[in-house]
Amino acid sequence: MAHVLVTGGTGFLGSHTIAQLLTAGHTVTTTVRSLTRRSGAERMLAEAGAPHADGVSWVEADLTSDRGWDRAVAGADYVLHVASPFPGARPKNEDEVIVPARDGALRVLRAARAAGVRRVVLTSSFAAVGYGHGATGRRFDEDDWTRTDGPGVSAYVKSKAVAERAAWDFVGSEGDGLELTVVNPVGIFGPVLGPDYSASVRIIHAMLTGGMRAAPPIWTNTVDVRDAADLHLRAMTAPEAAGQRYLALAGEPISFQQIALALRARLGEAAAEAPTGSAPAWLLRLLAVVSPALRETVPQLGVVRRASHAKARKELDWSPRSNEDAVVATAESLVRLGLVSG
Ligand code: NAP
Repeated sequence: MAHVLVTGGTGFLGSHTIAQLLTAGHTVTTTVRSLTRRSGAERMLAEAGAPHADGVSWVEADLTSDRGWDRAVAGADYVLHVASPFPGARPKNEDEVIVPARDGALRVLRAARAAGVRRVVLTSSFAAVGYGHGATGRRFDEDDWTRTDGPGVSAYVKSKAVAERAAWDFVGSEGDGLELTVVNPVGIFGPVLGPDYSASVRIIHAMLTGGMRAAPPIWTNTVDVRDAADLHLRAMTAPEAAGQRYLALAGEPISFQQIALALRARLGEAAAEAPTGSAPAWLLRLLAVVSPALRETVPQLGVVRRASHAKARKELDWSPRSNEDAVVATAESLVRLGLVSG
């Protein structure tokens, strides 16, 4: 069994990853920006049914500062660097997300190298793979990179591409034997563990609470958070994963309308507010003139990004749940935790 540092213990993916590491018998240190968040994060681990959660070590460290990282990596065999800014809204200045993502990844890598860590698994994103290419019928795989100067590239998308590039450059030029493996998840769904849930979950919340009256013509790829966490654990120890990227996705893209249908079919009354009709793209483009929130979605209208999960399946024997199971699990958890009452 190993000692593992997971960055971002308050996060959706971070908490599920810690829970799986504990279940597998590893010991864990995790970082939080502020120790005042520790009790909330512990409640999330309890919700996930994590054993020995009282044995987790909590260290205060922010991606924007050098403070705390040496202490966080001390004694770690592996680092799963999950933390990164994942804002629900467009930041005023793109550096608000790009700088912590890139410089934070480099801080974690430098600290890991100094501490003699065997391997860092970096949580990147499909945002570093399949954006900025315009309309294409191509199926993206691990050889693809987002074009950060291409159309429809948001600050967040750029932050993930820039941070992942910087990480590969670092281990290539000054890694000194430190191994790097990268996981590139698509939109993460699955069970939420508490009220402070990730931005990706808001779509399901909006569908359940009547916040989305009609489904826009948007397609997304999904992966269940439990499968994304599982892939991090596989990527951590598989010898052949060193130096590799792995896309994490359930399968084919799913439309918002298909998501709404799955929620209605599987949750019944609890999904009575889920949209039954679709909103035409022309109407959304028109409304976007006066709505900043809608403006954010315009570049995604009608865009279908196909990608392959063949590499993770073949090399790491990874077997993800379906799109429908992932989004239904999100909805069920929101209902179970009483988070859809407004
Ligand atoms: P999340 O719940 O918002 O978690 C993000 C985590 O990063 C939180 O623990 C957050 O801490 C931490 N963080 C943000 N800025 C930080 C900073 N300056 N210093 C230290 N920690 C910081 O989102 P998530 O979905 O679990 O995302 C986890 C990872 O998966 C991220 O790298 C994200 O880019 C990636 N990802 C997510 C999706 C998705 O659809 N959710 C898809 C692909 C990739 P606080 O709680 O203090 O804010």
